[in-house]
Amino acid sequence: MSVTRVVVVGADAAGMSAAHQALRTARRTGRELAITVLDRGRHTSYSACGIPYWMAGDVDGGDDLVARTAAQHREAGIDLRLGTEVVAADLEGRTVTTAGGESLPYDELVVATGAPAIVPDWALRPDGTPHPMVGPVKTLDDGAAWLQRLEEAGDGAHVVVVGAGYIGVEVTEAALRRGLGVTLLTRGRGLALLEEDMSERVAIGLCDAGAEVVLGVEVTGLQLDGDRVCGVTWEGGSREADLVVLAIGVRPATGFLAGSGIELTEDGALRPDAHGRVADHVWAAGDCCEVRRRLDDRWVFRPLGTHANKHGRALGDSLAGGDLAFPGVVDTSITRFAAEGVHLEIARTGLGHDEAVAAGHDPVTLVTEGSTASGYMPEADPIALWVMADRRTRRLLGVQVVGGRGAGKRIDAAAAVLWHDGTVDDLAWMDLAYAPPFATAWDVLQVAARRVAERL
Ligand SMILES: Cc1cc2nc3c(=O)[nH]c(=O)nc-3n(C[C@H](O)[C@H](O)[C@H](O)COP(=O)(O)OP(=O)(O)OC[C@H]3O[C@@H](n4cnc5c(N)ncnc54)[C@H](O)[C@@H]3O)c2cc1C
Repeated sequence: MSVTRVVVVGADAAGMSAAHQALRTARRTGRELAITVLDRGRHTSYSACGIPYWMAGDVDGGDDLVARTAAQHREAGIDLRLGTEVVAADLEGRTVTTAGGESLPYDELVVATGAPAIVPDWALRPDGTPHPMVGPVKTLDDGAAWLQRLEEAGDGAHVVVVGAGYIGVEVTEAALRRGLGVTLLTRGRGLALLEEDMSERVAIGLCDAGAEVVLGVEVTGLQLDGDRVCGVTWEGGSREADLVVLAIGVRPATGFLAGSGIELTEDGALRPDAHGRVADHVWAAGDCCEVRRRLDDRWVFRPLGTHANKHGRALGDSLAGGDLAFPGVVDTSITRFAAEGVHLEIARTGLGHDEAVAAGHDPVTLVTEGSTASGYMPEADPIALWVMADRRTRRLLGVQVVGGRGAGKRIDAAAAVLWHDGTVDDLAWMDLAYAPPFATAWDVLQVAARRVAERL
């Protein structure tokens, strides 16, 4: 049997999941694959998700975040080439070209190039490099750079975090826990993941822990003292800063596909099918792609590791003759803010109110407050839940949670109901676990669902 040459571009979550699954499936299907993985970076298979906790001091070093080393990938039979950037793809000739001028032929091409952090022009020096005390939190190298900056800035430094997505919140936690002053700035009305009421609860928690939160401002410049950053500016305002964290989002790294004939969205994302196919002999998975949201059958950009791993696995299996499919998402995510005596777990699943309206629903929403455990237990913490259901069909549409220890992963029960197109009554009456340290006799999630059900 002939050998199929597979070239994977991108050696992190999606690319390496795809490569290893392809090898596993090929053993079952009897195919022979020669897999080459190219990555422009120096690292492979690491948890970017752990970087904020490395910055906070919970994780000893970047090596602890590496799930599989380059040597382990090579031992598994993968020809892994780090420091190798792909700059062009010729789909007809089935080759990719590297920055070093090498042309590599493939039979199947896997695009798993992720989505690098957006670095706005105002953060750059005239030579195009970011100012030394300004940067994103995206790669292991970024993590190492932040550890060094934090060290250099020393006690008493003030950090401005630009962007209130989950990375902005996690970095705010890290900086506060290191004893630094923090201002979190966002052009939005609050935490991007949440409805307004829930977002306000997070903002209050951040302020209680000593952070300053400034909403509705768009940073447009840096204040400089020579080459030293001393603040950020926006229309009508400014804030002092020794360090500036850029957490304003990411953009798919698909520039090398320009002109190749592959269809990209306006933002440069790919839209692979459930098996990962984007064109004949071309596959894609991970942050460079949008995902299909099952609830309203829309494409959404949700650059999350949980999707990258699953989609990569389905892709690898399909490429090698299997038929695993990535079934889409219900838009679930979770984060935590814990500093200075404040502990907030923050999670969401499903649609937001406006998305539900846009999808033709008649949404009813309600916020319920309760307790994460029986009130007489020492672990009982306050929790608030936002639940949304459709008035006509009673279908559960979305749930958001902000609360103390044990609050966040409650979202999974709601996500399971959404996954199966369940109703708010399903959520209210499901058999969820109860004992005093974990819940009240009626779990607060079920109380919240029942209260919405009563209003439909
Ligand atoms: C601080 C932080 C916290 C996070 N927390 C969470 C979390 O809690 N939960 C969660 O689900 N997700 C989280 N994520 C997101 C998660 O890390 C990403 O979704 C995941 O890493 C995506 O994997 P990927 O393989 O698609 O892309 P990436 O990890 O970005 O890997 C893409 C690789 O492609 C390489 N590459 C790009 N272009 C080229 C090219 N032209 N040639 C060669 N190589 C190229 C890059 O060097 C990179 O190594 C977090 C991310 C960050 C930054």
